[in-house]
This record gives sequence, C-alpha cells and structure tokens, in this order.
Amino acid sequence: MILIFALLLSSCSSPTHQLVQQQLFTFGTLVDISIWTDKPDKANLLIQQLSADFEHQHNEWHSSKKNSLLSKANQQLQQEQTATLDASLASLVKLAIKLSAQSEYLFNPAIGQLVDLWHFDQLDQQAVDEIVEAVLPPDKKQIQTLFDMLSSELDLVLTDQQGSLHNSLQIRSKNPAVKLNLGAFAKGYAVDQAIKSIQQAGFNHALVNAGGDIKAIGKKGDKLWNIGIRNPFYQQQTDSPVLASIKLNNNESIMTSGDYERYFSYQGKRYHHIIDPRTGFPSDGFHSVTIVHKDAALADAAATALFIAGPKNWKKIAKKMAVDQIMLLTQSDELIISEKLKPRLSIQNKQLKTTVVKLD
Ligand code: AMP
Ligand code: MG
Repeated sequence: MILIFALLLSSCSSPTHQLVQQQLFTFGTLVDISIWTDKPDKANLLIQQLSADFEHQHNEWHSSKKNSLLSKANQQLQQEQTATLDASLASLVKLAIKLSAQSEYLFNPAIGQLVDLWHFDQLDQQAVDEIVEAVLPPDKKQIQTLFDMLSSELDLVLTDQQGSLHNSLQIRSKNPAVKLNLGAFAKGYAVDQAIKSIQQAGFNHALVNAGGDIKAIGKKGDKLWNIGIRNPFYQQQTDSPVLASIKLNNNESIMTSGDYERYFSYQGKRYHHIIDPRTGFPSDGFHSVTIVHKDAALADAAATALFIAGPKNWKKIAKKMAVDQIMLLTQSDELIISEKLKPRLSIQNKQLKTTVVKLD
C-alpha cells in the first residue's frame, strides 16, 4: 500500500502523558508511529530505532531491491540452487508458506515473476490517485508462458534448520519460474514486530500505521484508538473521506487490500496490483477487503487472499484462515460486513448498500 487510508480520528490530552508521534517514509510508504506516554524522550529514541528496523526490513525483504537478502535467495532459486535464509527471513518465509496453503494458494508468495511482469514495484512511490499512463499491461503471451510454468501451489522444498545455531532455513525449487515476493504480507509482519518492540521497551499504549496497515495496543489517553477506513470513492466536497470507523481493542490490527492502492490505467481500463494466481491477471474479486484480527501478518495475507477469492469463495477462505471480522466492498459498490464486525463499525458512507453476512 502506498498511501495512508486510515486516519486517526480522536484526540486527547493529560497532565502527565502526551502523544509522541513521528511520521517516517519507509517500507515504500508513510509510516506513522504514535506512543501515548509520560516518557517522551524514551519514546522518541525508540521511534528512531523502529525507523531503522523498518528500513532494514524493507531493504532485505524486498524482492526487487538489488542485493537484498530476498533478491539473493531468488537468484539462487532461479538457478535451481539451494538458498539459505537468515533467521529473520526464515521465519517470514515459513509463515508465508503456511498462510499461503491456508489460503488455497490465492495468497501466493511464489508468483514474484508474474507480479514483476505487471511492473507494480515501479509504482511504489506514486501518489495513490495518480493515474499512471506510462505503464502498459504486459504482453499476453508473456503472461501465458509464465503462467504455464507456475504450478497451482508453491513448488518450494524446505529444509528446516530450526535446531541450528542461527535458525536459518534452506530452500530450493525445481521450477525456475518461482520467485518469492512477500509484498502481500511483509508489512503486516513488520507492524507486528514493531508493536512487539514497543511493548518490550515498556510502553503499553501505541499505534503503528504503515500506509493504512495498522496495529494498536492500549489506548490514547482514556479512549480506544479510533481508526477511519479510507473511502476509495472519496471526491472532495461531495463525500466523506472515511468509509467507516472502528475502535481498535488492545493488540488488534486492521489491514486492507484495495484495487485503488497501486494501479495504472490503459485504454480506459484500470489494472491494479493484486494478481490472481489462477489467471495471471489483476483480480476482479472486490474493490477492497478489510480484515480485523490480532495478528497483523495473518490479517494482511488474508485481506489479499479474500480479495482474490471474490464473492463466491471469500467465506470458505476466511474460514480456512480463521478470520471472522471482515468488510468487503464489492465491484458493484455494495458493502458486505461479517456479523462479528458489524456492531463495532460506524459506517460513515450512508449511501452504500450494506449487507451483514453470517459466517458458517
Ligand atoms: P496487498 O496490498 O497486501 O494486497 O499486497 C499486494 C502486493 O502483493 C502486490 O503489490 C504484489 O507485490 C504482491 N502480490 C500480488 N498478488 C499477489 C498474490 N496473489 N499473492 C501474493 N502476493 C501478491
Ligand atoms: Mg495483504
């Protein structure tokens, strides 16, 4: 995601505590870190450390950054060699593999070459509403060739090194079309890590917002953190910039995948960054999917997977991934909200048709 689409809606003050807040540009997006504390100097120092952590993760986990750990591993995979992943990347990749299987490989971190064909990494730093005419859809034959080479699963073989000194992981593939891209869940994972670091430093009230991927602990003063979910239809003056708002409980995250986050338009058609591994083309499942869950990495992967699952299959995938607080915006601009999430949501855009759905 490249723009913040979730807004902090509340404000308050206290004689001893204050909000220490910094905005960073890292992970290819704006990251807001807010800590409600009576130790502002300590909080500011911690935020500097978190900023360095985010930057390090972004540099090492990015599939298209030259010489990143992931790029080096991908080069080895493409040459059908064994790649050794360090402890941090190993736990990320193991979790990605587990979540991918749960999603029936709709969230598929092995389709990096297919994602590259669509050039969305080049759009990383484009403003969200900017229509980028310079990018063309890839040649259909190129998509087909790669698509034919990829299997419907991951095509990876793991050698778990759990017992080894550094908890590294060896990984290989017999399929040179396999390339790891962790973009659909690395930010959620990084947000989980940042919140853990904040807790370990002794802070109990904080919020991390990485381009709309958000996790909160505690409260802001005496109020829960209040989050606005961006309205993708927002046009100034006529509408609310917020689709709905929600108060996050302790240690809870909210993640959204949307077709408006990174896209280009070509000959009147919009092509976005969430690729359906069953077709090789941008998914036409939903406009956006929002998931609330305590685990940000899971919620991030699930938002991508449910987006691709589309109206027919999202319930089945939600069940497999064990998520039940879900808001989906359909291609026909209808809001579908799971029964469990509905009482917590305050819907700001009253014009949209809203349906509440029970998950079996
Ligand atoms: P998100 O915004 O979390 O849905 O993640 C989308 C990003 O994940 C894209 O920009 C791609 O880098 C990558 N991606 C696209 N399609 C998939 C997919 N089906 N499975 C895994 N990653 C994907
Ligand atoms: Mg995601």
